[in-house]
Amino acid sequence: MRDIYDVVVIGGGAAGLFCAGSATQAGMRVAVLEHGPEVGRKILISGGGRCNFTNKEVSAKNFLSQNPHFCKSALAGFTPRDFLALVEQAGIAWHEKTLGQLFCDESARQIVELLLARMAAAELRCAVTVQGVSHDGVFAVETDKGSFIAKNLVVATGGLSIPKLGATDFAYRLARQFGHKVITPRPALVPLTVDAPWMAALAGVSTPVIARAGKARFAENLLFTHRGLSGPAVLQISSYLAPGESFAVDLRPGARMEEALPAAKRARPKAGLKAVLAEHLPARLAAHLAEAHPGNLADLPDKTLRVLGARLNSFGFTPAGTEGFVKAEVTSGGIDTDGLNSRDCGSKIVPGLYFIGEAVDVTGWLGGYNFQWAWASGHAAAKGILEQRCEGSGAARYISAGTGCSKKSGSIPSLSKSSRSPSTSGGPGVTFMILL
Ligand SMILES: Cc1cc2nc3c(=O)[nH]c(=O)nc-3n(C[C@H](O)[C@H](O)[C@H](O)COP(=O)(O)OP(=O)(O)OC[C@H]3O[C@@H](n4cnc5c(N)ncnc54)[C@H](O)[C@@H]3O)c2cc1C
Repeated sequence: MRDIYDVVVIGGGAAGLFCAGSATQAGMRVAVLEHGPEVGRKILISGGGRCNFTNKEVSAKNFLSQNPHFCKSALAGFTPRDFLALVEQAGIAWHEKTLGQLFCDESARQIVELLLARMAAAELRCAVTVQGVSHDGVFAVETDKGSFIAKNLVVATGGLSIPKLGATDFAYRLARQFGHKVITPRPALVPLTVDAPWMAALAGVSTPVIARAGKARFAENLLFTHRGLSGPAVLQISSYLAPGESFAVDLRPGARMEEALPAAKRARPKAGLKAVLAEHLPARLAAHLAEAHPGNLADLPDKTLRVLGARLNSFGFTPAGTEGFVKAEVTSGGIDTDGLNSRDCGSKIVPGLYFIGEAVDVTGWLGGYNFQWAWASGHAAAKGILEQRCEGSGAARYISAGTGCSKKSGSIPSLSKSSRSPSTSGGPGVTFMILL
């Protein structure tokens, strides 16, 4: 009989490496197939090279998805505390920046090393091109380096963001071929372009704001760029905007400028608007906003000041577009969660097929949430595979190294357990052949 892997993971990014680690720790025989020259390339550049590897507070409200409940089970099964425990076990020094964001003190490479150490027993193949996948009870993954047969296939090839780091639409194509739906992928956490020539003069100006779109609200910095807007507040709000949709920015959070400007006029009628605005805003922005109103405050009608003040607290922007997948930190949309089991990200259509990480229609906010989803979904899939295997649903006919099954059934060393509903394995016996 040919060698059969318990799990083949396609994609050696955050989710794939973590899943492979959880599966090997449980004694499963695992291979990871990565088409790039090395694994974890996004991790290496993340967080300015220090990797914002999780956030202290993570809940479903930090994620966008057509089904906002889908991510809850995986997130509960592997928490930020669980990941932090691994970071500490590995002796990686870390610190909290703002808003609960946890970073390495030294280098993002330490996270990649942690992931590789966890999956040391797995077979890692880089620079492999997957040419096709078929399923007939087991999965056959055809590559330019030979075929890999596996009882379970985990697809962890991410979204479309940053093609130069290896992003492809592989997961979507494979999902569609197996009958899954894909929610239109769009750039998210992405700088916005704005057709407003006056803004180019403000390029480089950064200011604390509150950005709002519908119910979404982010109090962080906004950055004017040569082509539009960026900064954390804008990146966050970008994930919530449909093409052509406007959003509002409070350029002076905490002050009611509608009242503050007329009050300043009464207190200091000889002051210029530019000087007064500069007490609230960066000087270049204040100078630009005051351009249309030279002279003293005393020369300006109260109504003008009230209208200008109200505008400062709710400045409308209508983006022309985004900087696209080339600059987007993540991809929103992706594999429709309707077709997946929330407890393990397993396919409801094809037993043994799993989709994890950014490929799935679960998109986190900026701030460590996307990596936490990668760890949690990867862990959930490994746990689901292990539990299914331990239920003995036909898996025994394949050769594999170590069962990883304890009497308690389905435990991955040193991580929490959760219950799972009955097995879906067994396979419909249908052959799918995908030429990718
Ligand atoms: C600049 C930048 C900074 C970021 N910083 C942070 C941060 O600090 N904190 C945070 O939480 N998130 C951050 N993110 C988001 C985070 O990197 C992703 O959400 C996360 O990496 C997704 O993990 P993944 O494993 O699903 O996908 P990826 O990490 O994208 O991994 C997918 C892997 O699959 C491989 N692949 C693709 N197609 C194929 C194929 N056909 N065959 C084989 N392999 C394939 C790719 O080469 C890649 O290695 C950042 C993203 C970017 C772009």
